[in-house]
Amino acid sequence: MTSAGRFAPSPSGELHVGNLRTAILAWLFARSTGRDFLLRVDDLDRARAGAEAGQLRDLQAVGVGWDAAVVRQTDRAALYAEAIGRLTDAGLTYECFCTRREIQDAPSAPHAPQGAYPGTCRRLDAAELEIRRASRPAAVRLRSEAGEWTVQDRLHGPFTGVVDDFVLRRNDGVTAYNLAVVVDDAEQGIDQVVRGDDLLSSTLRQAYLASLLGLPVPEYAHVPLVVNHDGARLAKRDGAVTLADLAAVGLSAEAVRDLILGSLGLPDGPLDNALAAFDPAGIPRVPWVWQGAGRARH
Ligand code: GLU
Repeated sequence: MTSAGRFAPSPSGELHVGNLRTAILAWLFARSTGRDFLLRVDDLDRARAGAEAGQLRDLQAVGVGWDAAVVRQTDRAALYAEAIGRLTDAGLTYECFCTRREIQDAPSAPHAPQGAYPGTCRRLDAAELEIRRASRPAAVRLRSEAGEWTVQDRLHGPFTGVVDDFVLRRNDGVTAYNLAVVVDDAEQGIDQVVRGDDLLSSTLRQAYLASLLGLPVPEYAHVPLVVNHDGARLAKRDGAVTLADLAAVGLSAEAVRDLILGSLGLPDGPLDNALAAFDPAGIPRVPWVWQGAGRARH
């Protein structure tokens, strides 16, 4: 089995400098530890026509390449169904008919994290199930017995929290991100997950799920995000933040790559230069505040 790192963008639009910085970091982590680097397109949800091709082009433009054919989640429904089937056979799933509104309005269990599922459908009896099934399609939830779970993160250290009964398959039939990502990472031989630290809290659910499925838990490194002046995660509305926007104001892909490398305290030029100097312990632990293309040029 290969040992690999990866970048797994959702093809919902163009990548911005924050996404590109995370991709460069994931590449550096993988390469500096002798791993392959894989590209997976997380297109189960929010996919926009044409976005994937643009994302792959932009990654290559900043020097991020990958070692095997690109994998798309929409091609892998059978793998996800098999995993959900195994959990169901083990009595670890249940059907849930709650609307978002009902979940919001239900009293939450003591000590449950914000947004945790309150468990409404956990104990429906056969008669209740039949009534609900007639009214709307069911989502499938995990019957979590985890309580608190802990993962180790390369940058954050031990991270602990409660794992709730999260969704495995939505009621429109789409496999949920947390299930797909665990199945894919294991099946692709990915044993190192480097991504933005906004996803740190998902890690508990994913690591717990991996353990239930008998899959190895990857090494995690959740890296700081790029933020705007207000401290909010960088987004398209923050002005020129994609390679296309930045090219229009005179910044080439190489110049953007060099800005990103500079923000990481790494030498500029081709990524191999940065690779030679890369030390995970030296990554800034705070978000990078994007100054805008105007400031960046000078
Ligand atoms: N596709 C997810 C996203 O773009 C990231 C998945 C992951 O890195 O685990 O937010």
